[in-house]
Amino acid sequence: MYDRIYECPSPDDCPFKSDSAADLVAHVNSGHADEYQRED
Ligand SMILES: [Zn+2]
Repeated sequence: MYDRIYECPSPDDCPFKSDSAADLVAHVNSGHADEYQRED
């Protein structure tokens, strides 16, 4: 049961999607660390 699907926000043609926001953050931090930086 998915509340929503999180898609990668990268402007690149990145196919990453996840139903987990934590997985998306981990993906962005590991795969797009030079594009996006997460600041809490
Ligand atoms: Zn991505």
